[in-house]
Amino acid sequence: MRRLILSLCLLAFSTTIVAAQQYELVLEGGRVMDPETGLDGVRNVGIRDGKIARVSSEALSGRRIVHAGGLVVAPGFIDLHQHGQDLESQRVKALDGVTTALELEIGVPDVAQFLKSKEGHSLIHYGTAASHAAARAQVFGAPLPAEPATTHAGIPEILPKSGPATDQPATPEQIESMRERLRAELDAGGLAVGMGIQYTPGATRLEVIDMFRLAAERRLPVYTHARSTGRAEPGSSVEAISEVIGAAAITGASLHIVHINSTCLRDSLECLSLMEGARARGLDVTTEAYPYIAGMTSINSALFNPGWREKLGISYGDLVLPDTGEHLTKERFDELHNSSTTYGVLIFANTQEVVDKVIPHPLVMIASDGAKGHPRNAGTYSRVLAQYVRDKGTLTLMDALRKMTLMPAQMLERSTPAARQKGRLQEGADADIVVFDPSTIRDQATFEKPMEPSTGVHYLVVGGTLLVDEGKVVPDVYPGHALLGPGKIGSGKGL
Ligand SMILES: [Zn+2]
Repeated sequence: MRRLILSLCLLAFSTTIVAAQQYELVLEGGRVMDPETGLDGVRNVGIRDGKIARVSSEALSGRRIVHAGGLVVAPGFIDLHQHGQDLESQRVKALDGVTTALELEIGVPDVAQFLKSKEGHSLIHYGTAASHAAARAQVFGAPLPAEPATTHAGIPEILPKSGPATDQPATPEQIESMRERLRAELDAGGLAVGMGIQYTPGATRLEVIDMFRLAAERRLPVYTHARSTGRAEPGSSVEAISEVIGAAAITGASLHIVHINSTCLRDSLECLSLMEGARARGLDVTTEAYPYIAGMTSINSALFNPGWREKLGISYGDLVLPDTGEHLTKERFDELHNSSTTYGVLIFANTQEVVDKVIPHPLVMIASDGAKGHPRNAGTYSRVLAQYVRDKGTLTLMDALRKMTLMPAQMLERSTPAARQKGRLQEGADADIVVFDPSTIRDQATFEKPMEPSTGVHYLVVGGTLLVDEGKVVPDVYPGHALLGPGKIGSGKGL
């Protein structure tokens, strides 16, 4: 009996010791919000081994305690559409609450090279699609550089310059070579097939369908920038959205249409209703938007092939160079469009009214399309929280968080089971967490100062490591890991 009491005492003592040191990090007393379960209450969050180990009303102890009273504790934001993969861009993304930023719209020219270059050197989680545009450029004998150089205004060289590789139709043999290249890129860890159809106008409807077939064969989604913009037929945005919905229906591939705001402009709500119709018929079609009236792209790309002014309903003066604020003239446009250097250009083609209707729409996820030169790189998420949740009141905080966390995580689940652990503030989920002040969070980036970091994110946890501490990025920590597609996970190298 005495021995039993003694061992019970010992057990109690050792449990106390364990409890006292249980967590590496504790976020204490914050307003914990999880869009999947609907949890919205004051809790303590215990983090260990890169995971959320405990979400509790009880006091938790740990090596580091972060006092989160008055702050929101939510899953870190997941950006499905981020071109700027450099450290400077990752730094401003972190201060905007982003813990995962993926290049899925276009994809990088060489998946293996990209993943190798990021390993151990990434602030936040990363990943990429296999690029149809790069495969096409290669097949046409004009390959893109494997390591996209940061060029003028920070636009990475992921798009081919307008020319035969973008404008000519491919032979059946060339299409088969593209498919082979994409299979190899998916085997290297690509999460999806990325297709910027507007940047490869020579791709026929059949070439597009053949790429969707390849994605379907791998049970992976297609992320696409659709073929065209505007109201003029043929080639309206409604036609472009119908084309990719048709390709999804024909092949069975899941479809994610990027930036519905900039593809459909004043017909954005019409395009959303096409997607609602497709979804009601059982198709897997999703979309995203960013909260700005201007877009940005490479000025020597095929998007600016003849006819662009009529399609976009704008003229030379609506194109603006990011670093200087210079509005273009016809002469200046011709010079830059024909240059072999890739210049980024801002395109002012949308209205605030359209953007204000698109962002709160229930189908729309938030994604930035970010790269240096455009404020969406640094400000997208804080801007939605400041403008739509706080100022206009057209979104609840929980719905905004859903668009930034759970919805993109669920989209990513089509590519990797690792995404089931993301976008959730739950026990067992990855410890990717943003802690922000909902009453002050605000974007600071402008078209004049596009890399100005947002304010209001007090802490950011990436894979269990504090990357932002008391509003500052912690130097010399690189907690970002790769999100890999099944080609690589199958070989046992998944996250
Ligand atoms: Zn795009």
